[in-house]
Amino acid sequence: MHASDFIATKRDGKEHSRESIRAWFQMIHTGEATDDQIAAWLMAVYLRGMTEAELYAITDDMVHSGDVIDLSGIPGIIVDKHSTGGVGDTTTLVTGPLVASLGIPFAKMSGRGLGHTGGTLDKLASIPGLRTELQEEEFVDQVRRMHLAVAGQTGTLVPADKKLYGLRDVTATVDSLPLIASSIMSKKLAAGADIILLDVKYGSGSFMGDPEHAVRLAQLMVKIGEGAGKRTAALITNMDIPLGYSIGNSLEMVEAVNTLRGQGSQDFRRLVRALSSQLLFMAGKGDRALCEELVEKAISDGSALNKLRDMITAQGGDARYIDEPESFPRAAFIEPVTSPEDGYIQKMDTASIGRISVSLGAGRDVADGKIDHSAGLVLNKKTGDEVKKGDVLAWLHTNRHQALESAKSTFLSSLTFSDAPPEKMPLIYATIDTESEARRVKE
Ligand code: URA
Ligand code: CA
Repeated sequence: MHASDFIATKRDGKEHSRESIRAWFQMIHTGEATDDQIAAWLMAVYLRGMTEAELYAITDDMVHSGDVIDLSGIPGIIVDKHSTGGVGDTTTLVTGPLVASLGIPFAKMSGRGLGHTGGTLDKLASIPGLRTELQEEEFVDQVRRMHLAVAGQTGTLVPADKKLYGLRDVTATVDSLPLIASSIMSKKLAAGADIILLDVKYGSGSFMGDPEHAVRLAQLMVKIGEGAGKRTAALITNMDIPLGYSIGNSLEMVEAVNTLRGQGSQDFRRLVRALSSQLLFMAGKGDRALCEELVEKAISDGSALNKLRDMITAQGGDARYIDEPESFPRAAFIEPVTSPEDGYIQKMDTASIGRISVSLGAGRDVADGKIDHSAGLVLNKKTGDEVKKGDVLAWLHTNRHQALESAKSTFLSSLTFSDAPPEKMPLIYATIDTESEARRVKE
């Protein structure tokens, strides 16, 4: 096969055969397909789209471009959960311990922060000593022993995605539903769990603007997962407002712990309960009402928090930080932003608030930059809240004194005020679950 013929097929809006897709990924693997050719093909896909048959085929070839984690030695039905990225989104660090404490193995390979969105690994790494780089054997063994491990990617998962993503990033072809769906799902399928739950975000803090676009992406991903024999479902959730009150690494770690203690903000609590009970339901723990009850119980009897403590200890971290959150180093400067007027917060530009947290030190300005685990924001008011002039809207935490003034003014311009309360937004817009009853996928 000539690369240019393959590209021309897609350019002309025709369908690739299964064999030609296999040959194409082989050419990407060997380097026979050049970056220019791959980039041209990506643009053709961006403009022409893909049939479902093509989408299943490219996802399958991407999965097998590298290692596939073998979790088959772990008894039970293993679950994984993936968020498409948000601001203040610490759900993994609550949902994982919750379902694991109820006997469901949770095996999660997480990422570092990307752009304005935070990464679970950076949040975990705010605990001194904690290792997020586990060898595959250690990762699998920990899930077997305590039903819970959260670590960076082990092995070489989906090198084809690395290649394609790098080229998409510089050719304005990231924002394509089939390319996003195959990119995310190839990594989830290679990570080896039996059950995949996707938290697909929409709104200003996410990369899907409107909820219907997010629904279409979720439907594609659920089809890919089910087509590959994995029970897969998705929640479509709102990112027009940061999740919870805290944004930043140790700040969010504390928020996760508070939520496991049954405290914390209402929206974050609702989301982690919904994700956790959906996972339990999919794993066959019982009907929805029972799964919700189990989640409540794991919080109120402290077993979920104990599970987080055990995981931190197993990964070399000092679990004392869970019981004494005041031990986390505090930023040198903690300054309020106050409201310039009376009214209601009508809207928050969540992506902008995420970027402010990066400017305060909570994220990376350059690819290998260093994170300040103590930096970030703690919101005092959120969309829908009534405020009086002079009320504290948020506290900025930073060790970069020079970043404060600009962060304050950017924060204020990220908010829209109004005289009347805004319409309430649903936190969970839709659930995409093709089966009403849990299917046992293993045992
Ligand atoms: N996240 C991914 O892993 N891939 C995409 O294409 C977009 C978001
Ligand atoms: Ca948060």
